[in-house]
Amino acid sequence: MELVFATNNPDKLSEIKDLLGQEFVLKSLKEIGFDGDIPETDPTIEGNASCKAFFIYNSYMVNCFADDTGLEVEALDNEPGVYSARYAAVDGNTGFKSREELTRANIRKLLKLLEGKESRKARFRTVIALVIDGKEKIFEGVARGEIIYEERGGKGFGYDPVFVPEGGTRTFAEMSLAEKNRISHRAIAFRKLVSYLKTVK
Ligand code: IMP
Repeated sequence: MELVFATNNPDKLSEIKDLLGQEFVLKSLKEIGFDGDIPETDPTIEGNASCKAFFIYNSYMVNCFADDTGLEVEALDNEPGVYSARYAAVDGNTGFKSREELTRANIRKLLKLLEGKESRKARFRTVIALVIDGKEKIFEGVARGEIIYEERGGKGFGYDPVFVPEGGTRTFAEMSLAEKNRISHRAIAFRKLVSYLKTVK
């Protein structure tokens, strides 16, 4: 089966290609001639994954899937959620010179808002929306843990330096990619998608 993964992230694409095996021809957005940004306008993680997948399905009439991830923090009413990537920029502050600078500001904002809060419980949640012949199926992966008080570790990306998964002592940023992939939200959701796809090929 031919499938499009509606992402512009080459790391995610090769990760899932590796899991999928030979029965699937997985194509990137670039390979189908799309090089813009897919609108992400929904206020929920599920809604965003779904609207990205249907955007590509409706534009190109190809079977496809899209993912969306957010960090949900209990004491912040599940924020930043869909706004995780641009948390420090949601108030109109757009003066960030690089992605790294925005990431650092996102973490600073998160730690500031958590000052004095009793609960530091949080979870990463990935939702994948798969659209085959116009019908949608949703897969979810969750990694529960806690936000610590300061950044630790130099690997990973995003909020990894302040997230310690449940039952562990190291942050995601202190783990190798292989270790993180054993327990990460995205890996869990991807594995569910792959098991399903192997039943419909
Ligand atoms: P995306 O939907 O995968 O692009 O993720 C949205 C945002 O959530 C990213 O820009 C990061 O800020 C955050 N995020 C997603 N996955 C992770 C992760 O595995 N570790 C840390 N942050 C993540």
